[in-house]
Amino acid sequence: MGNYFLIAFLLLCFSPSPNWIQASSPGQSQDLEDCTHIRKNQQHEHANEVHCSRERSRAAWKVIDEYLMPFVEKEKYQISNKCRLHPDNDMFRDQELHKINHDVNEWRCGYCKKSFYAEKYIDKHFDNRHYHLLNATEGNCLAYLCGALHCDLVMDLQPRKTKCNPASAVRNRHLCETLADTCFPVTGGLSASRLHEFFLHQFCNAHSCSGGQKPFSRGGKTRTNAFYVVISVLVLMLLPLFYGFVYLYQRGLKMSTQDLRRISRAGRKKKPS
Ligand SMILES: [Zn+2]
Repeated sequence: MGNYFLIAFLLLCFSPSPNWIQASSPGQSQDLEDCTHIRKNQQHEHANEVHCSRERSRAAWKVIDEYLMPFVEKEKYQISNKCRLHPDNDMFRDQELHKINHDVNEWRCGYCKKSFYAEKYIDKHFDNRHYHLLNATEGNCLAYLCGALHCDLVMDLQPRKTKCNPASAVRNRHLCETLADTCFPVTGGLSASRLHEFFLHQFCNAHSCSGGQKPFSRGGKTRTNAFYVVISVLVLMLLPLFYGFVYLYQRGLKMSTQDLRRISRAGRKKKPS
């Protein structure tokens, strides 16, 4: 029975109609391999068309979200979509927003609800299955801004002690100042002017080999750690229980010693008779 299926499958693969058969190598095993992998290759072709690092774009977004947006919100300033830091100018934003993360080992695709064990697998899934949802127009790659935004500091990389390159420091500073000028033009009002000054201090001034100022010198988002909140609530709930238990235990101990004394006294009184 299995042999019939194999023959039918071989006939299907060797039928002259599909173009890819003629283009493949003459070896039978190669043809079979092509037959099974052609779909995958077609999907990878699309993934390879995008030359923008998803990982570095994510790091750039993390920097923007933690070290810039809290201050922009505080000023109630609306970033123009001409600014490269605007969420619309991140080609991966929509896909990143469709990542449902329940746990470190549980990732779910918001488009098709498929589950994954690790973030790298859901990333591959997005590249292969939902590549058509990428907003891959020119200038939409946040990873290109990583030099200006100090992405390496928020990525899980081994700390590197590299010698400062004056040429790349100048290049990054120039890119950084261009971002400050386009996103927060000094002629755009008081808030824009203040944010322009802030942006230079927070990101641009650190692009120097003299080591004067550190990046993110104005600080970032303050987050309450969920773990500490849970521990604090548990301690507050368990403390009264603990003291209640100690109180009842001591009370019980006191009562039992009193009872013992009473019994021994009664015993002593009974003895002479
Ligand atoms: Zn999906």
